[in-house]
Amino acid sequence: MEDVIIIGLGCAGYTAAIYSARYKLKTFLVGAEAGGMGNTAAEVGNWPGEIEIRGPDLMEKFKAHAESFKDQVTLKIAYVKDIQKIDGGFRVFMEGDQTVDGKTIIFATGSNKRHLGIPGETEFSGKGVTYCATCDAFFYKNKTVVVIGGGDSAVEGAAIAAQVAAKVYLVHRKNSFRAEPFWVDKVKEKKNVEFVLERNTIEILGDKKVTGIKLDQPWNGSDILAVDGVFIEIGSNPAIQLPQKLGCEIDALGFLKVDEAQRTSVLGIFGAGDLTSASNHFAQFTTAAGEGTIAANSAFNFLQSGH
Ligand code: NAP
Repeated sequence: MEDVIIIGLGCAGYTAAIYSARYKLKTFLVGAEAGGMGNTAAEVGNWPGEIEIRGPDLMEKFKAHAESFKDQVTLKIAYVKDIQKIDGGFRVFMEGDQTVDGKTIIFATGSNKRHLGIPGETEFSGKGVTYCATCDAFFYKNKTVVVIGGGDSAVEGAAIAAQVAAKVYLVHRKNSFRAEPFWVDKVKEKKNVEFVLERNTIEILGDKKVTGIKLDQPWNGSDILAVDGVFIEIGSNPAIQLPQKLGCEIDALGFLKVDEAQRTSVLGIFGAGDLTSASNHFAQFTTAAGEGTIAANSAFNFLQSGH
């Protein structure tokens, strides 16, 4: 039996594994995709010690660091289908009918991108509609695209898209942004970005692929913006399905409820990163790493105390 099973291969999961390994805990680290949401950051400028680094490169460094503890850490890329309580711990069911048992669990499953839920969105998903501007902008060289949203993901996404696309619309329902002023200023500098403010997108239009979006009110005389690509960047929902299934308390906003030690309401289960109620919901590399650190320390203390 593993001492700790960490589910999630993002910043929180890797950090928890590094600490858990240094506590000499037998650690099983599993997730569907190495790097998680960290892979979607085109430029990271707020990880201390790295003035600027690509998100996927930073996540590769985290992975290599976790894997360097060869005697303690087993890393597996696999989708986790289910989890059950067993005597003395938990059983994790992975794709391919493999299972692993652990005395404690750290959920670091992050979040899933929100959808707008408007006509055309599902129909044109993958045919011009995507949920990661920084990952997919590269495919729109010299084209016209729209980024929808007003947070860090949207504004950073618009800045990155502007480096390759001929024209970028940034459509936001308010007239001010919640994104870091650093990114807002960067986008304002780009001559090929047009801000379309106080507008909602009500439909995605197309034939075989996207041809435009429809706004709730006209912009420059038309309620249609002709675009080749639509990047929906309206935030994420915490991925709480597995801890919820085990009876962990979820708060009113839908986050996995944790205390100051990253303990959930169920003994032996901890949470770290974007899915939790901690860090004031500020989803950063630094906050995820901090939560992963504390979760591993708490798992260690829990095991030390004789559980
Ligand atoms: P977010 O901060 O939740 O922002 C979502 C944006 O989408 C908001 O501007 C919101 O509008 C808008 N929105 C939500 N639902 C909408 C709808 N149905 N229709 C139209 N607009 C809608 O999400 P995020 O930008 O993905 O960021 C999530 C977390 O990741 C944040 O903590 C952020 O700091 C972090 N993050 C950080 C970086 C970075 O540091 N470089 C990069 C990416 C993400 P309102 O403003 O009107 O609510």
